[in-house]
Amino acid sequence: MAKDQRQVESITNMDEDFTQWYTDVCTKAELIDYTSVKGMFIYRPYGYAIWENIQHELDRRFKETGHENVYLPVLIPESLLQKEKDHVEGFAPECAWVTMGGSDKLEDRLCVRPTSETLFCEHYKNIIHSWRDLPKLYNQWCSVLRWEKTSRPFLRHREFLWQEGHTMHATAEEAREETQRMLNVYADFLENVLAMPVVKGQKTDKEKFNGAEETYTVECMMHDKKALQSGTSHFFGDGFAKAFDITFTGKDNQLHHPFQTSWGVSTRMIGGIIMTHGDNNGLVLPPRIAPIQVVVIPVAQHKPGVLDAAADLTARLKAAGIRVKMDASEQSPGWKFAEYEMKGVPLRLEIGPKDIEKAQCVIARRDNGEKTFVALSDLESAVPALLDQVHDGLYAKARENLENHTYAAATLEEAKAIQEEKGGFVKTMWCGDLACEMAMKEKAGMTSRCIPFAQEHLGDVCPVCGKPAVKMVYWGVAY
Ligand SMILES: [Zn+2]
Repeated sequence: MAKDQRQVESITNMDEDFTQWYTDVCTKAELIDYTSVKGMFIYRPYGYAIWENIQHELDRRFKETGHENVYLPVLIPESLLQKEKDHVEGFAPECAWVTMGGSDKLEDRLCVRPTSETLFCEHYKNIIHSWRDLPKLYNQWCSVLRWEKTSRPFLRHREFLWQEGHTMHATAEEAREETQRMLNVYADFLENVLAMPVVKGQKTDKEKFNGAEETYTVECMMHDKKALQSGTSHFFGDGFAKAFDITFTGKDNQLHHPFQTSWGVSTRMIGGIIMTHGDNNGLVLPPRIAPIQVVVIPVAQHKPGVLDAAADLTARLKAAGIRVKMDASEQSPGWKFAEYEMKGVPLRLEIGPKDIEKAQCVIARRDNGEKTFVALSDLESAVPALLDQVHDGLYAKARENLENHTYAAATLEEAKAIQEEKGGFVKTMWCGDLACEMAMKEKAGMTSRCIPFAQEHLGDVCPVCGKPAVKMVYWGVAY
């Protein structure tokens, strides 16, 4: 077949090979392309448009909670990066360095930012002097670079897009409140915009962010029952402030160190959307971030009046604030149906001569294939209601997946057997010792996902060592 005769190619069956299915969706839904640098991807217009909608929704929430956007440089001097020991140790293996400026060797080599805590601290030292300067509630939208050895579209890039919030507070209590506030912003966004149910909790010391005192996380379960850490929020105490000598004069006229937080989500979320909602026909997008919410497809478009009617409906939906696209190209309706299914467009509106006669159209849902006849006069109310139904349907399905694949285990052997036979999240009690956490990893192949806020009492002892348990932990295999 000639190259210009486009066809929607089939994709790998997700139950046969989930990894290949995922890659197929990323490329065939035209989200991403590869480049000649390993691990560096092009976000194609359709993929980037999803990110823009995520950005738009989150940015609004950040501003509603009092944050301002700033932009800091992409390069960090090595001497600055080394000021906080745990931080630099954690990131050193993934840093990429600029060592030359033109033809001159640099005396202090420059790291391409893997994250910007150190730059923010350098800046905060300059602008924070008095309690009146606090809190500082900054956020940055940017790309960061981590020299990963393996890569996968959206899930692991050497360069990826994200936002990083960095805030400074007069007291530890205020900083802790901020850490929780932003975790809740992420949880609300994931559930109510991306239709992805979350497990909220705290990371163990082993899994927390480099240099943080406490890390909080929202964990999601993918269709293949693996975990995706979807957003994190960190409380730093005054560790960085001390390392960077940031002080302010308090109301008591004494010098104090401020308390710091950071929090971030990235384009990884798009990988999460694909693996939570997608199916064997391709991508399935949650309506609230879908670049195209409704695609209008004229049926028998050569017949008189069809194109005009389709254009009229498109204009009406646009005026009602719906992201809508009409496809009046020469491709067959069958091709168009498959193409927009692959791209995960939540609703497909069909209109043909018979529909026009009856003053109706047909609307098909991407998530479950259900078709509804809608009176043309009801269009502006019916479409938003259907979009909400798609959102609710996606959320319910994802929640069912999470709940049906979360198991309690009382022994290490039981946890291992569940992981091998069923996958999913395994919840157990835990004594709090790193050795038992390591044993769960080595023997059952699972890392701790979080110590959930919603604690349950499953027993009195740690399943690994038999000592008294202090917490319930969720374990899983993570991306
Ligand atoms: Zn133990």
